[in-house]
Amino acid sequence: MTDRSPWPEPAVRAADQLRAASGAEPEQVWFAPGRVNLIGEHTDYNEGFVLPLALPFGVGAATRSRDDHLVVVRSGQADGVVEIDVAALDPASEDGRVEGWGGYAAGVAWALREAGHDLVGRSGVDVFLDSDVPSGAGLSSSHALECAVARALLGRAGLEVDATELALLVRTAENDYVGAPTGIMDQMASLHGLDGHALFLDTRSLEVDPVPFDAAAHDLALLVVDTRAPHALVDGEYAERRSSCEAGAHALGVPALRDVTVDDLDDALARIDDEVVRRRVRHVVTEDGRVLEVAALLRSGDLRAVGPLLSASHTSMRDDFEITVPQVDVAAEAAERSGALGARMTGGGFGGCVIALVLRQDVAAVEAGVRAAYDEHGFTEPRTFVVTASAGARRVG
Ligand code: ADP
Ligand code: MG
Repeated sequence: MTDRSPWPEPAVRAADQLRAASGAEPEQVWFAPGRVNLIGEHTDYNEGFVLPLALPFGVGAATRSRDDHLVVVRSGQADGVVEIDVAALDPASEDGRVEGWGGYAAGVAWALREAGHDLVGRSGVDVFLDSDVPSGAGLSSSHALECAVARALLGRAGLEVDATELALLVRTAENDYVGAPTGIMDQMASLHGLDGHALFLDTRSLEVDPVPFDAAAHDLALLVVDTRAPHALVDGEYAERRSSCEAGAHALGVPALRDVTVDDLDDALARIDDEVVRRRVRHVVTEDGRVLEVAALLRSGDLRAVGPLLSASHTSMRDDFEITVPQVDVAAEAAERSGALGARMTGGGFGGCVIALVLRQDVAAVEAGVRAAYDEHGFTEPRTFVVTASAGARRVG
């Protein structure tokens, strides 16, 4: 169904670009948001719990049919015209690969084709994209793009696919076409997002349970700090954490660390010899416990009590999982010192964003506190924004 509320800015701009290029009106306009994870870090590949929310920022996609059978994609944020011959896509052959940013769009077209969806049988399509998700900041600009392209291609072809089924196809696109070993959370958040709600997601069953998260109604704000820390060595570190977690699950004789509860933790840790693996396991198990606690607090409307759990998550990521960097630690500490109820790094780590839960009247003081701390350390100036839990991918026009 077409959303009747005002179009998000990127959707307006995507439609304008299509009009400017073709002199015609778009046939359809879609929007898919980025996401931020409230809590639950590195729990996804341990089949545990996460609690993301869809952002007001996202990717708009305006479409118009073509006379040929190509999918042709342009972006307001990237150079080049990406021409995709859907039938020829093949991640295993050089001719069938699209490199660069167009690979995300091609990957989605490939995964949809492989699942039997005929995107271009009747005609090809022009797709104009525009985004206001900062790229590479850990707010999942790439998944917003993939989900927008997926919905736009399906919608234009008159095809409907359930949000969870589509999230799995987008994961296939990222893993098997783009070649990024990402999980399921980002697409699920973008596709299932709900205004005023965070999404409690069980990554084993893929069940989604929206829980109310209307910070403003509680005189609170969720402040996002883009730490601008350069990502380095991330792929190798990610792989190392995954294998430590697998080693932990193996030592404990469970299919995944999700199967260890906080109550079992002391016994479990006593059965692991490797000191590093022990700390990695402690992070994952306590983090799953914190996600459950935060979800329960949100359901009972006690949003302020969430703060200390965010800070505990940060400490666990810093000391046990060792995935923070100085910029991230300084931002989280400065936010708390300046009055935040709690703060944590969000996303895979080694940079990205910090979120802080802040009384509305303290937002300016917390922003100033983080800026001053960055200045003192000589770090690149951070970007900050207050975000609200927003609706998921949808057709807007
Ligand atoms: P994140 O998803 O956290 O923002 P990634 O490194 O996963 O970071 O994805 C960023 C990449 O996604 C960019 O390098 C680019 O290839 C692609 N991308 C993101 N937004 C856009 C956009 N608006 N137009 C074209 N490509 C984009
Ligand atoms: Mg990404």
